[in-house]
Amino acid sequence: MIESKTWSTDEILATVRRYWGFSELRPLQEQAIRAGLERRDSLVVMPTGGGKSLCYQVPAELEQRTDIVVSPLIALMKDQVDGLRECGYPAGALYSGMPLHAVRTTEEGIAAGRYRLVFVAPERLLTPWFLQLIERLPAPAFAIDEAHCISHWGHDFRPEYRQLAELKTRFPQASMHAYTATATERVRADIVQQLGLKDPAVLIGTFDRPNLVYRVVPRVDAHAQVLQVLQRHPGDASIVYCLSRKDTEGMAEALKENGMRAAFYHAGMEAGDRRRTQDAFAAEEIDVVAATVAFGMGIDRSDVRSVIHAAMPKSIEHYQQETGRAGRDGLEAECVLLYSAADVIRWESLIEKSAAEAGAAPAVMTASRQLLEHVRRFCTGLHCRHRRLSEYFGQAFSKSNCEACDVCLNEVENLADATVTAQKILSCVARTGERFGAEHVVDVLVGANTERMRRWGHDQLSTYGLMKGTERKGLTNMLYQLLDEGLLDRTADDRPVFRLNDESWAVLRGQRQVKLVQPKAKVRKTRFAEESWEGVDRGLFDGLRTLRREVADERAVPAYVVFSDATLRDMARARPGSATALLNVRGVGERKVSDLGPRFLECIAEYSRANGLELDMSAGSRPKRQRSSRKNDAKAAAFQMFAKGAAIEKVTAATGKAPSTVWGYLALFIEAHPSQRLDPWVSQETHQAVAGAVQDLGVAYLKPIFDRLEARVPYEQIRLVIASLKNSA
Ligand code: ADP
Repeated sequence: MIESKTWSTDEILATVRRYWGFSELRPLQEQAIRAGLERRDSLVVMPTGGGKSLCYQVPAELEQRTDIVVSPLIALMKDQVDGLRECGYPAGALYSGMPLHAVRTTEEGIAAGRYRLVFVAPERLLTPWFLQLIERLPAPAFAIDEAHCISHWGHDFRPEYRQLAELKTRFPQASMHAYTATATERVRADIVQQLGLKDPAVLIGTFDRPNLVYRVVPRVDAHAQVLQVLQRHPGDASIVYCLSRKDTEGMAEALKENGMRAAFYHAGMEAGDRRRTQDAFAAEEIDVVAATVAFGMGIDRSDVRSVIHAAMPKSIEHYQQETGRAGRDGLEAECVLLYSAADVIRWESLIEKSAAEAGAAPAVMTASRQLLEHVRRFCTGLHCRHRRLSEYFGQAFSKSNCEACDVCLNEVENLADATVTAQKILSCVARTGERFGAEHVVDVLVGANTERMRRWGHDQLSTYGLMKGTERKGLTNMLYQLLDEGLLDRTADDRPVFRLNDESWAVLRGQRQVKLVQPKAKVRKTRFAEESWEGVDRGLFDGLRTLRREVADERAVPAYVVFSDATLRDMARARPGSATALLNVRGVGERKVSDLGPRFLECIAEYSRANGLELDMSAGSRPKRQRSSRKNDAKAAAFQMFAKGAAIEKVTAATGKAPSTVWGYLALFIEAHPSQRLDPWVSQETHQAVAGAVQDLGVAYLKPIFDRLEARVPYEQIRLVIASLKNSA
């Protein structure tokens, strides 16, 4: 065993604060970090977004050693390294396709012990060249990210991970730390066994993600419904999972036609096209990706605000994994699953087909069917979704109302007259001789005027046109709801038809009541979402996002690497006025304050001045209503005085507000009163000078104007002139 120092919690926190700007650790992070520090093997299972990376980043830094992180995807590795470097944390990576000079630099860095972490793909790790490199390191620890890839019981088995079993033999001194978000017992046991972990600390986090709101909605019109969800998140990142490649293309097309910045992604595309879509998503050039399950692990955008399943996934594990990509920054995000019983049928035939092609054992098919059945029950049952998911993964859920799913938010509506509707549908199935599928049954009910109808004489039936005026898609959905409830059967052959069963007859005889559901038109806002926006100035948040985009473009890194959305919201809430105050914002470490502080502080100060907002709201404070009404009183008083041309000092004295605030009020006043002359506050000469500079330099940035005027005109006056120019324009 290698002796190591015992680190105090304060020492751990000091490092976390310095690099990442977090002032506390999340559940299990400290235990996982300690396992790393003590070099005890560990298996850490945390949901996506739980904060696994910190667990291997901190020990290497505290102990000043070079640890190795095995990661499956190059894109992920690059982003992680970029993100760490932005925090001032020394990290490197080695992967195929890297330019030779970069490989050399990394090699030298490793030899000189310059890095705390080196990221490497599993197939590289065991090459003689790399082994030689790391054999020279004093005593590395290995962190295996996405460790479930080693298990073929997991949903993402990668054969190259199997080689990692050799690590323990080659480096008996080194400790191994496996990280995954996959929860099943079998996969966990497999990881421990395959990696040969010795007496590992097994740390299993809570699987519930309280920031996610889950909704399961009957699918009536996928394109329209997806669009509706996306419209709740304008300009935000979203993923739409579709069942087939063709579906992704159709979905992306439909979204684009409706003005969304969307693209599709599936495994049938050229590698180059796939990468371009992925890069465009990371670079915020597109907001929405319509994808098959192939889109996933390479995405590290933490600000995905909605994950929509346009069709049912094939297992709860998949659902958890895919919805896990929403809200990794801990902010609110929405997961909507559009469900139709038709999906079950489609999946069944896909499973059968692929099993037949692969010559799979019947047991494999039975297992797939069971997984499917779990999702079907999840979709059709009206039970708290958070509870169901937690319980599925073997964890108790203590809340009686999660306040974050369609069921607990009471968004599902029972259809009035459901029993009568069911009777109409079932009797139509009976009258047409139990020989037809959904399309024809619906045709008869709505009274379609088709050749087939006349050929069969179904236009003469008493059920013909019985539900005229009902929307076809809605009606089809009800038919499938009856199937789901076991009130109707469907044959399993190539041309499935509906058949009545005993339950159907019970309904027809009026011996059984039926419940049919339809989504309410409006969804409710969750308390979580409301609270996470409390006190945040939306305009400032948007301004900070734009600035973040600029910085990310300049540095060719994804935006979330600069600051997360959560950090920007905290900034737009606390409105720090100094570097010290900025350091108090969650997610801002020392390097970022020195590196990016001036630009972000300027953006905040400028916006706050222009909008009459105070700076330095105490960290985490939520402005009280009272405060804002007092502010409005002050603003109204100031406006009255401005109308009479009062000087800034007078308004400051009368309102008790800081001069910066009063200047901000004045800019607002000028914008609101286009005919107001600036003379009382800006001399004619200055006005002209600023206007001339604006003509040359534009108004995007004030600094160049300030410099052009040789710092003679204060920013406040420049801002006023711009406000009045905007008015006259
Ligand atoms: P995982 O790998 O488990 O999916 P990450 O390591 O990517 O999760 O972390 C998810 C997000 O949570 C990141 O934005 C990260 O910066 C943030 N985070 C991690 N630890 C903390 C913490 N102690 N306090 C606040 N935010 C944290």
